[in-house]
Amino acid sequence: MHSSARAVLTPIPALSDNYIWMVQKNGHALVVDPGEPGPVEALLHDGLILDAILITHHHGDHVGGVRALQQRTGARVYGPRHENIPACDVPLAEGDTVDLPGMGLQFRILDIPGHTAGHIAYTGPLDPDRSAVFCGDTLFAVGCGRLFEGTPAQMLDSLDKLAGLPPDTLVCCAHEYTASNIRWALQVEPDNAALHARARDVTQLRAQNLPTVPSSIGLELQTNPFLRTRQATVQAASAQYAQSSLDTPQAVFAALRQWKNDFR
Ligand code: ZN
Ligand code: FE
Repeated sequence: MHSSARAVLTPIPALSDNYIWMVQKNGHALVVDPGEPGPVEALLHDGLILDAILITHHHGDHVGGVRALQQRTGARVYGPRHENIPACDVPLAEGDTVDLPGMGLQFRILDIPGHTAGHIAYTGPLDPDRSAVFCGDTLFAVGCGRLFEGTPAQMLDSLDKLAGLPPDTLVCCAHEYTASNIRWALQVEPDNAALHARARDVTQLRAQNLPTVPSSIGLELQTNPFLRTRQATVQAASAQYAQSSLDTPQAVFAALRQWKNDFR
């Protein structure tokens, strides 16, 4: 077998602004969060076997394609143990691993509640020198998911867990929200040089209709306000927005999340 081939990592545009992540290796493939089947089916062919469908959380724009793809390909469906996922074969929680021998890949599971109560992430190497995290709607490029089923403290813990991954870990999130996230983040940190540089990069990519992801943990640590609640600049801006002194990272996070919700 071609076990020395490198994995091919592809964000497949779906629905209005979702990405379905595909990893191909050795003639086998996995997809993450197929919100609809069509864009994945268009890439399947006789030489490519879909082994696995990995689900991060139960929202329709992440699971809408599961049944059709599972029926067509027989792929195994992996998903969060504590959520109701269509056709789920393998329920997962933190501490579990996903073994995909056809692709020579293994992922570990992280519990990252906040956007939904049972949201999980999958992380592990794609190649010996390249790791990724599939984090659904928890961490976005320069943003984070809304708190539909969790508290600010839970979400901050989840983001801290992701922030603790090695800085070169590729952040494979599920939506193209980067440009509008950056417009907001520049209000929070108008003097952040790394954020301005990223704004230029993202403007160029979107002008060519190209994805702005994957990001990396290191880039998020430099530019994502939600990973920067312990920075004096972010604390001061959040306190001014909330019109109150914010004494803890949780309070800073809650104010940032409200600010982002209000931002147009
Ligand atoms: Zn969601
Ligand atoms: Fe979503």
